[in-house]
Amino acid sequence: MDAKQNIVIIGAGYAGLTTALRLDRKHRITLISADSHLTQRIRLHELAAGRPEVTVPLKELTKDTGITTVRGRVNAIDLDGKRVHTEDGREFAYDTLVYALGSRTDTGVPGVAEHAYTAEQAGDLRARLDGGSGELVVVGGGLTGVEMAAELAESYPAWRVALVTGGVAGAGLSEKGRRHLARTLTRLGARMHEGTRVESVGPDGVRTDQGVLAADVVVWAGSFRVPELAAEAGLAVDDRGRVVVDETLRSVSHPDVYAVGDAAAVQLPSGTHRMSCAAGMPIAAHAADVINARAAGRPAEPFRFRYLLQCVSLGRRDGLVQFVHGDDSPKERILSGRTAAWVKEQICRFTVTALKMERRRPGTYMWAKGPARRKAVADGRVEARRSDATAAR
Ligand SMILES: Cc1cc2nc3c(=O)[nH]c(=O)nc-3n(C[C@H](O)[C@H](O)[C@H](O)COP(=O)(O)OP(=O)(O)OC[C@H]3O[C@@H](n4cnc5c(N)ncnc54)[C@H](O)[C@@H]3O)c2cc1C
Repeated sequence: MDAKQNIVIIGAGYAGLTTALRLDRKHRITLISADSHLTQRIRLHELAAGRPEVTVPLKELTKDTGITTVRGRVNAIDLDGKRVHTEDGREFAYDTLVYALGSRTDTGVPGVAEHAYTAEQAGDLRARLDGGSGELVVVGGGLTGVEMAAELAESYPAWRVALVTGGVAGAGLSEKGRRHLARTLTRLGARMHEGTRVESVGPDGVRTDQGVLAADVVVWAGSFRVPELAAEAGLAVDDRGRVVVDETLRSVSHPDVYAVGDAAAVQLPSGTHRMSCAAGMPIAAHAADVINARAAGRPAEPFRFRYLLQCVSLGRRDGLVQFVHGDDSPKERILSGRTAAWVKEQICRFTVTALKMERRRPGTYMWAKGPARRKAVADGRVEARRSDATAAR
């Protein structure tokens, strides 16, 4: 068997593009995206701080590949009829669907949607901050919030930056890593309010469980949320709406659908993968390998992956490279300062370089592989879940 398929990929972020570019070009490949470019989301805080451009045209990334790119917003998936619908009334039939709609900042906390900026509004945020001054509150102590606070504090010294978080900033880092992060934020003039939960955002600031913090501008960098389309269509999803996939990255409810990137819930021996390019691009590359293998009648391999690093930019001249164990837990070893800033920049560049490499020679992207989840379940190291019941075929 060596079947040519009609493969539709929805979403042209890092994950959708990785899958599209790595698929065998004998297939008919259609990439549907709301935008005509890749937004380098990992640079959105840089855009807010004045970087002129963070997009790459899809035309450039898919040139000479035979991939059809379609600009359109997907608003429904008919899983029985195997069709994708776009807002403008078009429909696209598929044999195999790759769901890669990614995520956005969750704006569910009261007042956030009305009164706060998110990374997705980085261009508007820059326009608001440019030439102004006042109190600027960044909410969220995850790596996105930390990167945003550092970048804005460095680029807009006339704004007094505060980072507010319910827990500690950089909770997944080692103690050494957290210390460097706190030191750098302080050096850049940012104040930290840890252990302070924000309950709502208003026009004059944020209401927290410790009282009100006045702000002229609030930037919300809480958790990510995925589109509801998968759940609405009837795909099996987890409690955060991510598509539940088996170890070959195929939907556990609909075997002709694969899910990749932030929109998927991929079970690793350490739990569900972290929403990140670091995991999302390997997932997307492996999904392409599985689709290629199955179309050619070869067995599909289970996804294997291990984390290596967490890289944090702290402005343009400082950063943190946190070495981690395969399960993403921190080692004590870190790199910091300009060296770390340089490493982080190379990694950001590499995400686009990797796509360009796949365009020229599909199959070139590689990643660090850990044990298969199946083995971890069999060894009793992790508890079995619904997705483990659907073995690779
Ligand atoms: C400021 C910031 C910094 C970050 N830094 C890092 C980092 O250093 N390292 C790291 O690993 N991760 C980082 N991340 C996370 C990383 O950006 C995401 O995990 C990654 O972008 C996920 O890739 P994806 O392709 O799954 O989704 P996305 O990049 O979100 O792409 C999804 C695509 O789908 C399109 N789309 C969505 N809905 C529809 C629809 N209905 N119809 C058509 N198209 C649609 C979107 O327009 C988009 O093009 C950062 C995120 C932010 C915001």
